[in-house]
Amino acid sequence: MVVIGSHVSYKNESGLAGCVKEIIKYGGNAFMFYTGAPQNTKRGPIDDMRTIEALELMEKNQIALEHVVCHAPYIVNLGNDSDKDKYDFSVRFIREEMDRCETLGVRYLVLHPGNALKQERAFALQNIAKGLNKILREDDEMVILLETMAGKGTELGITIDEIVTILEGINLKEKVGVCLDTCHLHDSGIDVQKFDDYLKEFDEKIGLHKIGCVHVNDSKNVLGSHKDRHENIGFGLIGFDALLHVIYHEKLACVPKILETPYVDRLYAPYKQEIKMILDKKFNEHLIEDIIKEGSL
Ligand SMILES: [Zn+2]
Repeated sequence: MVVIGSHVSYKNESGLAGCVKEIIKYGGNAFMFYTGAPQNTKRGPIDDMRTIEALELMEKNQIALEHVVCHAPYIVNLGNDSDKDKYDFSVRFIREEMDRCETLGVRYLVLHPGNALKQERAFALQNIAKGLNKILREDDEMVILLETMAGKGTELGITIDEIVTILEGINLKEKVGVCLDTCHLHDSGIDVQKFDDYLKEFDEKIGLHKIGCVHVNDSKNVLGSHKDRHENIGFGLIGFDALLHVIYHEKLACVPKILETPYVDRLYAPYKQEIKMILDKKFNEHLIEDIIKEGSL
């Protein structure tokens, strides 16, 4: 089966087991979670019993640990070092997040590279490498995945070349990979309809083996809009066929594909219906109605 799943929520009471139960409900075999709210850095202790329960459930349901991804909160920023306290906090927090992942047995941590704010982009890209060099340790068993960004505001990591610049500055190169996001690619100006051209360039400059995760999202906005507003699969300006091509791409067969599409009416998770549509390989024009119907049962 194609490696497909979605973002799920992690709660301190249910821990990793809660995440696994949620993805089983959606029919996925991969998942991504934040260890707390994505917009803050408050984090609770980890209950090992819930992790053991999670691993048992995963084995029963053929969910491989390599297909589980953690996402760092998006308010940490390694791109700007003008405020040393803030920069050091980001370094410390990401390090702690890696330790939390290692406790959970999770191998991948997705990180938004950062924002330049008022600093020069070239300088800011170096700040990211500098921060990662402080964070990464020789004995780390996990990999940080730098996410490709839409280019909203002063976001960094919006072109292959910017990712290359960051990677070049990193000492422990094998501990850093890349997470693609189809909405971000589209919004940054890369045509997902021509995904093979993008992969070719990526392979030449970075190497496809560095891709550890793909966020599959449609986009509410036009190509190159730099907005970063996700849309449900097939309902945006990338379209169902182009996204299906990414999901079933033979060169990304082992890579977890994760949906981060919006809840319908802010209430109903769309993932079960979207995963079904992806597995059926057939666009469901009534998807939104079906999600509401199912959600309100
Ligand atoms: Zn992200």
